[in-house]
Amino acid sequence: MSKRRRNRHSKPLVDRPEVRFTYEEIDPKVMCPYCLFESPLSHFKIILANGKESKRKKCPDCGTIMFQETLTREMSVKEFANWVFEYMPYGFWQKIDFQKFSKRLQEKGIAREFWDEYKRLKGTIAREPSYSEYMNQQGREYARKWNRGEGRE
Ligand SMILES: [Zn+2]
Repeated sequence: MSKRRRNRHSKPLVDRPEVRFTYEEIDPKVMCPYCLFESPLSHFKIILANGKESKRKKCPDCGTIMFQETLTREMSVKEFANWVFEYMPYGFWQKIDFQKFSKRLQEKGIAREFWDEYKRLKGTIAREPSYSEYMNQQGREYARKWNRGEGRE
């Protein structure tokens, strides 16, 4: 029995008998957001040349290097779709292997929810008219003016 004085407000976890560490808590399973590869966090570590562990993590499957926060952030399928959507302008789809990504979404049974949310987000962007739409609109405007007798020499 330890006679060490305890500070009530910062009780060390190891002194609490009710807390039992499980393998999951020490080395939680995480998922690479770039290829959906799932593995314990320890499999993503990068050991630097000086023997120390890098603050960044590397996916053993797709090789993407990322911050630990990216890997350990808890996200729902919808939140993940939002994350991908926000990343999209910075080249998310160019960066990843789309075949693998979409196959794994299917395998995890989350493809429908993911794509529904992704498409919903995409629908919220005000779309810029394309050049041909612009030309058509100009043409219609010109025809209208012509019909009203404007624009005739
Ligand atoms: Zn990966």
